[in-house]
Amino acid sequence: MSNDLTSTKLLSKLENILIIGSGGRENSLAWAIQKNKFVKKVYLIPGNAGSERINKCERIKIDLNNNNELVKKLDFLKIDLVVIGPEIPLANGLADLLRKKDFKVFGPGKDGARLEYSKSWAKEFMQDANIPTANFWKVNSLEEAKKIINSSSIPLVVKADGLASGKGVFIPDSKDECFKAAESIFNGKFGNSGNVVVLEEKIEGPEVSVFALCDGKKYILLPTAQDHKRLNEKDKGPNTGGMGAYSPAPLLTEDCLAKIVKEIIEPTINELNKKNIDYRGVIYFGLMVTKSGPKVIEYNCRFGDPECQTIMPLMDQNFLFLLEKCSMGKLTGDEKINTSDKVSGCVIATSKGYPHEYKTGYPINIGNVDSTNCQIFDSGTCFNNKGELLTDGGRVLSVVCQEKDFDAVFEKAYRNLNEINFEGIYFRNDIGHQVRKNFPKEN
Ligand code: AMP
Repeated sequence: MSNDLTSTKLLSKLENILIIGSGGRENSLAWAIQKNKFVKKVYLIPGNAGSERINKCERIKIDLNNNNELVKKLDFLKIDLVVIGPEIPLANGLADLLRKKDFKVFGPGKDGARLEYSKSWAKEFMQDANIPTANFWKVNSLEEAKKIINSSSIPLVVKADGLASGKGVFIPDSKDECFKAAESIFNGKFGNSGNVVVLEEKIEGPEVSVFALCDGKKYILLPTAQDHKRLNEKDKGPNTGGMGAYSPAPLLTEDCLAKIVKEIIEPTINELNKKNIDYRGVIYFGLMVTKSGPKVIEYNCRFGDPECQTIMPLMDQNFLFLLEKCSMGKLTGDEKINTSDKVSGCVIATSKGYPHEYKTGYPINIGNVDSTNCQIFDSGTCFNNKGELLTDGGRVLSVVCQEKDFDAVFEKAYRNLNEINFEGIYFRNDIGHQVRKNFPKEN
């Protein structure tokens, strides 16, 4: 194997790994991390029912807000590396707290997480670094918003400034809708996350996700991915957390990626440094490839879900060493990620009603699944007191496959999905339509 990091001396002990979070993303991280031969245990706080099916994994019940108890537990478990999955603990400064207690942590501190938890701050950051993004206006009141909406000659997108579980973005069709969206945000639809509103020029083009593992100074890129955010087929309907994804994204040619590195990724890392932000974690670049070139739609301070589930099966056991190097500020930037020669795709099965109201607690039946190069990562599941697997979220299961091409990937993913059942199960049948040669194209 080229560039096999396992043959080099270990930077530090890597037996006990802790992952914070409870979704499909965290289960896929656990699955990739347990592949490393040095790992003895992967703990998840809190994980979900599916975590217990993963080799070496164990769930820990503990209140994440009780800092003393948490630190005591991590000391007791002799945790060698902490990987923080979701944005909320990152925005609350959990990485800072654990670093102060001398734990190695993969995940930015509160200062770096601001790239995600304040859209207006991220826009100003991009402006400072001359990073291509849609024009924007930061507004503090409905009156201010009204003035800009009324005088604007271009279509606008309306965004709550803070974290809103992926629901804080509105893409209105008229000025009236624009105004209503701003009004609903200022009226408290997202609580304090809506104290500030960002109005943005509406831009157009296909979207793609790029992930950079970053150690504060250096970075390396993971395989690219494209996700499907809309609920319904043909990419219609409301935005969701993500209904499926595929990787790599052929849309990104080498030239386009080189442009993204030069105009977006490197200026982002340089600007973080300029602002004295020691960012040790993953930076998710949500990009739109417009006619005038790639532009940043948003930054996230964590792995995207379901892109993470899609990319993790392409990683070999060295992935963990990369996380460790990031946490220690020891990337060289020359590390080669050994990926599989296959491509990967993920389809999400959701509860009926998602992303709006939905019921949980329905039994999940998993039939005769072909598990060769296929994983089922639970996104929202739990056990009842009889040990039966139940639905426990809007997004319930992530079905992921790797094959030589995307037609084979999705043929298998959908064959497996037909073996899975729960009351009200819903999934899109056209995930990856752009890259499936056998998928009927519309004229
Ligand atoms: P975000 O949560 O910022 O990623 O936005 C969610 C989705 O809204 C994106 O994936 C885009 O499809 C869309 N979106 C966000 N900002 C814009 C924009 N300025 N122009 C057009 N679409 C946008």
